[in-house]
Amino acid sequence: MTDDILIFAEQRDNRIHPAALQLVTPARALADKTGGQVVACVVGDQIDTAAAAMNVAGVNRIITISNTSLAVYSATRYRTALVAAAEKVQPRVLLLPASFMGRDLSPRVAARLSAGLGTDVVELDLDGDGALEIHRPIYNGKASAKLTFARDRLAIATVRANTFPAPTDGGAAATESLAFTPGAGDDRITVKGIERAGGEVKDVAEADIIVAGGRALKNEQNFALLYKLAKELDAAVGASRAACDAGYQPHSRQVGLTGKTVTPKLYIAAGISGAIQHLAGMRGSKVIVNINTDPEAPLAQVADYTIQHDLFKVIPALTAEVRALKAQS
Ligand SMILES: Cc1cc2nc3c(=O)[nH]c(=O)nc-3n(C[C@H](O)[C@H](O)[C@H](O)COP(=O)(O)OP(=O)(O)OC[C@H]3O[C@@H](n4cnc5c(N)ncnc54)[C@H](O)[C@@H]3O)c2cc1C
Repeated sequence: MTDDILIFAEQRDNRIHPAALQLVTPARALADKTGGQVVACVVGDQIDTAAAAMNVAGVNRIITISNTSLAVYSATRYRTALVAAAEKVQPRVLLLPASFMGRDLSPRVAARLSAGLGTDVVELDLDGDGALEIHRPIYNGKASAKLTFARDRLAIATVRANTFPAPTDGGAAATESLAFTPGAGDDRITVKGIERAGGEVKDVAEADIIVAGGRALKNEQNFALLYKLAKELDAAVGASRAACDAGYQPHSRQVGLTGKTVTPKLYIAAGISGAIQHLAGMRGSKVIVNINTDPEAPLAQVADYTIQHDLFKVIPALTAEVRALKAQS
């Protein structure tokens, strides 16, 4: 085992996942302590732009595993590729984004390498013996669990998006490519195609700003109000489960326990009561704005700002104000 920290640099269509860039910050902090290097592994086909983005973020070394059979994500093939990179680097710690891909891939890699795995991590450090120590929220974010890994074997962690900033002061990484050799059983699962849910609109899991709506929006057409505000703020549109179940928005936009976990810099909730299952998915947001006519709505308890007013008046006014401010600057 070396003192290096390996990052799985998730990409799709040659576009690096923002959460992968953010991994460079904790990876560097760990590498500063171990005295090792930060190594990124980019897996896919035609991944030069994605690799270049990791270089800008400031890793020391980039390993690309490029093959036409890796063009779309396959749990088994990507596992084989990442295991090969880990066997080459022999890192102390392997970090992946806590994205859908990271969540799918990490246990498979951990099982192959007999490594420990911590998921949805928000804090990482090394203890006095040099073992990885992580914190992960539990009970819908109401408590935090501290886990310490064995020092003598690989530790793998998936890290929650938007927990760390993405550095941009790199540019001097050494790049090498590793040939992809399919493993036995890789074709037990075959990906026949990927159908995107939610079209080209920004995904809540990747957005810095989210404008979310609840049952109070009353119908799909009224969500256009939120889309207008989201456009001005370059934000994604999210929704409560009640709004998704009623068909106002697709379930790909649902935030919460059975939806997506989001940690944006700004979360604007309009007409959402803040049921515990909704809070489970968004209480990690940096700044929360609650627009609700009911001052007793539970969301007010976690919100930084509450606008106690009718959303149908507040959202258009907010949109006009943002537009005016942008016109001034
Ligand atoms: C196992 C399980 C899993 C679940 N998973 C999720 C999940 O992932 N995500 C999720 O969101 N929910 C989830 N739920 C459902 C959750 O319990 C709530 O039912 C749901 O979040 C309520 O959605 P809502 O806040 O949009 O609606 P409501 O609770 O009906 O709230 C609507 C709010 O709008 C306000 N309002 C009304 N009119 C206006 C207006 N004109 N202007 C401003 N405010 C107004 C009201 O005061 C109210 O607070 C789950 C439930 C279960 C049992």
